[in-house]
Amino acid sequence: MKIMPNRLDRGFYKYQEEFETKAIDVLRSGWYVLGKEVDAFEKEFAAYTGAKHCIGLASGLDALWIAFRILGIGKGDEVIVQANTYIASVMGITINGATPVFVEPDEYNNIDATKIEEKITDKTKAVLVVHLYGQASNMDSIVALTKKHNLRLVEDCAQSHGACFNGQMTGTFGDIGCFSFYPSKNLGAFGDAGAIVTNNDKLAEDARIFRNYGSEKRYHNKVVGANSRLDELQAGLLRVRLRHIKELTIERQKICERYLRELNHNKIELPLLRDNATTVWHQFVIHCAKRQCLIEYLNVREIGTIIHYPIPPHLSEAYAYLGYKKGSFPITEKYADEVLSIPLYNGMTEEEQSYVINVLNEF
Ligand SMILES: *Cc1c(COP(=O)(O)O)cnc(C)c1O
Repeated sequence: MKIMPNRLDRGFYKYQEEFETKAIDVLRSGWYVLGKEVDAFEKEFAAYTGAKHCIGLASGLDALWIAFRILGIGKGDEVIVQANTYIASVMGITINGATPVFVEPDEYNNIDATKIEEKITDKTKAVLVVHLYGQASNMDSIVALTKKHNLRLVEDCAQSHGACFNGQMTGTFGDIGCFSFYPSKNLGAFGDAGAIVTNNDKLAEDARIFRNYGSEKRYHNKVVGANSRLDELQAGLLRVRLRHIKELTIERQKICERYLRELNHNKIELPLLRDNATTVWHQFVIHCAKRQCLIEYLNVREIGTIIHYPIPPHLSEAYAYLGYKKGSFPITEKYADEVLSIPLYNGMTEEEQSYVINVLNEF
């Protein structure tokens, strides 16, 4: 049995008729950018997260850098972020000229909240929390810290659509929540798409203006903005998927509960669950000190895996200018050497799950 790490086609065929009907409707409407599908999606996604406003954008990276731009965070400012994130989180900070200040992760792969305070300087303007792999971070401590030090709080929710801490949705704890709807995300479009959510009226207005060349009224430009508009086709297709997000999340949770129950191997560490937090299982990430050996073993048995992520941002070529070296963040580097995402997708059959479990247990 051949098993790929992800199967986006399964997610499409699950609701094929609804997606195709919507696509044809939008194509025939004659209106393709910023229209009624985008308006409706923004309302529906805001309602889903419990935030007051949602502004559709062109990607998750845009959501991040536009968030910091409208918060006025740039050159000379520092933003605290976990070191073991996807590099887009860091680019969201540095595109504006601000400096990322890295913090090591906790055992749940999220920022270690106990190590934030020691990194705060008089240049620190914000904390960027990444709910990595779909599990909510320790928001009690982080919200308290940002309040105490009067810092902005931005959440990277590209992997955490629907994940909660103490029953509250990720993305609504701070000033701005940033979402990606890249096709492989839990709420995926059929191309690039993103959004920010916020409870702040002024920030919502600023984002709305910024995404459309800085104009509120056509050809009246208030600021130098960007073209980061969500298109009607993606918004319409996202609305279809959003209607099913609860069942899609439950399906992922069922698969992962089974993995947690049935996977059993002394060389494989399973993901840990945080108290008071839920996870929407963007990825099921194991840790294995013998990772290369495991990958090869799985390859021979036609099970595909992905490493999220093999090179931490501080060691990537793009950030050589920050001056870090191997050993700067030992926990992050250890994770980069050990993490492995095993197959997980909506529409994964029980036979496929069983095959993955049996093969892993016989490693
Ligand atoms: C996917 C992702 C992004 C970037 O989203 P794009 O839509 O690909 O630009 C940012 N942060 C994290 C944690 C992600 O997983």
